[in-house]
Amino acid sequence: MRHSPSLFFFLLITLVLAPASGSRAEWLSETRHLMGTEVSVEFWADDVTQGRLLTDTVFAEFKRLDLMMNPWNPASVLARINLEAHRGPVTVTPEIVDVVQRSFHFSRLSEGAFDISFASAGELYDYRNGRAPASEELAPARAAIDYRQIELDTGRSTIRFRREGMSIDLGGIAKGYAVDRAVSLLAAAGVKSAVVSAGGDSRIIGNLGDRPRMIGIRHPRKPGDYVVVIPLEDTAISTSGDYERFFERDGVRYHHILDPGTGESARAVRSASVIAPLAMDSDALSTTVFVLGVDKGLSLVNSLPGVDAIIVDGEGRLHYSAELLLSTKE
Ligand code: ADP
Ligand code: MG
Repeated sequence: MRHSPSLFFFLLITLVLAPASGSRAEWLSETRHLMGTEVSVEFWADDVTQGRLLTDTVFAEFKRLDLMMNPWNPASVLARINLEAHRGPVTVTPEIVDVVQRSFHFSRLSEGAFDISFASAGELYDYRNGRAPASEELAPARAAIDYRQIELDTGRSTIRFRREGMSIDLGGIAKGYAVDRAVSLLAAAGVKSAVVSAGGDSRIIGNLGDRPRMIGIRHPRKPGDYVVVIPLEDTAISTSGDYERFFERDGVRYHHILDPGTGESARAVRSASVIAPLAMDSDALSTTVFVLGVDKGLSLVNSLPGVDAIIVDGEGRLHYSAELLLSTKE
């Protein structure tokens, strides 16, 4: 994975310039609105002054990645790809190469349930204003979805679309990637206990001294309630739910996770949570498992070492991956 050298330098300089003595240790916690969601950074700082500077550095990294990967920002690299990649190769940043490459890995594992080119259909929905496309409008958009028609040249750092009408959106993986970058910055500064979250994607460094942190999985139909609380340390967890961005019409729920095969909201489950070492992976996998549903989703997760899942199905029943089932029976 490539990192931005400028941020590491910034971090180094801020640490060198910060007053070295007199500051106390404290648990620092801050939330800001970024990447279309609430981003929170919490950690144990041995020195409050340096800790505050570190918080700013971490949020600056979120901001940088948001500006780069947000398709709705006309100045982003992503917007340029969507505008120009039909005509020929577009030069992109190393971060986008990494994220797109990883997204292809999950596309192949899931036979296309995870597909960043879902966006040609995704763009036709407006959840805030309750708009969904008619079937005539959806058909050509659905025909443009196929990650295998995205040409990624990792050597030259370029992307080209082989299909007319194609578009990409990294909304199912970019927040996880940003959380991992934040955790790298915290760890490089010596932080030993932290939680970084961007919406439904969290990563935890360390524990609470003598015990693991308890992380709750939201109830998909009762806001403020949890379906289960699990102990976690040094890992990432992401939840994809049909309750995040949605509207209902004629008893049908239209929400932001699409089945690339139909171009419509995936309806097999209500929420899928995935635990994995990296937040980029838990993020992409929670979306993937949501689309795959209980049986295919759990068999994918059970085939991946170190990865676990908790699914709330369409009737509200809970399903656990094999390793979690074993640990709950211990
Ligand atoms: P949230 O963004 O609410 O944290 P998810 O991690 O589940 O939730 O990601 C949902 C986002 O993933 C959508 O807003 C969209 O940008 C993107 N997405 C939706 N369907 C797919 C899909 N089939 N493959 C890849 N990305 C998807
Ligand atoms: Mg996700």
